[in-house]
Amino acid sequence: MKINIAIDGPSAAGKSTIANILAEKLNYTHLDTGAMYRSVAYKAKMLGIDTADEENIVKMISGMDLDMKPDGTVILDGEDVSLKIRENDISMGASNVSKLNGCRVALVAMQQKICEGGGYILDGRDIGTVVLKDAPVKIYMVASAEARAKRRVLQNIEKGIEADYDAILEDIVKRDYQDTHREHSPLRKADDAVEIDTSDMSIEEVVDTIMKIVIEKMEK
Ligand code: C5P
Repeated sequence: MKINIAIDGPSAAGKSTIANILAEKLNYTHLDTGAMYRSVAYKAKMLGIDTADEENIVKMISGMDLDMKPDGTVILDGEDVSLKIRENDISMGASNVSKLNGCRVALVAMQQKICEGGGYILDGRDIGTVVLKDAPVKIYMVASAEARAKRRVLQNIEKGIEADYDAILEDIVKRDYQDTHREHSPLRKADDAVEIDTSDMSIEEVVDTIMKIVIEKMEK
């Protein structure tokens, strides 16, 4: 039987990269829930809706056609927005809309529906605490803000988008604060999650550590 796996942690801790590799190894599907909040922020920007305007954001989400492809491509109302949602202003916009309870309720329901059959690895901020409270494997990935900013710079260069270290570090610190201090589903480690500090670990080391945990759980 395929289980669901929860990975949480602050921005740029390497959650997506690790989730993608694990998904390939296990023949599971990775669902990047941050990309869903980013899509909401992107559409709000396109329509000129304030990211604090809960009523109109919720209305907008109900008419939104969001298709999260198993390969990570994000199709919003028929348009491939996979790269556009990675821009810096959208990162902050996503953190803003994610404070709205109505937005969270709508996206959490979509996420739970997508992975109800098992075989999913979800990465985000509230997966172990809200979306997949009963997941048998919960990982909480952390790393220093500087290590995360360095990684994000390299990723952005690869993607050909803005990659200024100082701006990225500032954004990470600001979003960390916002994500851990918001009223609804703030970022926190679930009591039964395993914490992994990836600051000085290679991608292979992190993957191996999590694979051991997954195999142990599956054998039980
Ligand atoms: O993971 P990523 O950096 O793409 O997420 C963008 C923003 O979306 C985060 O800063 C966070 O505020 C929000 N988010 C959330 N809950 C999730 C995933 C992302 O609140 N499950």
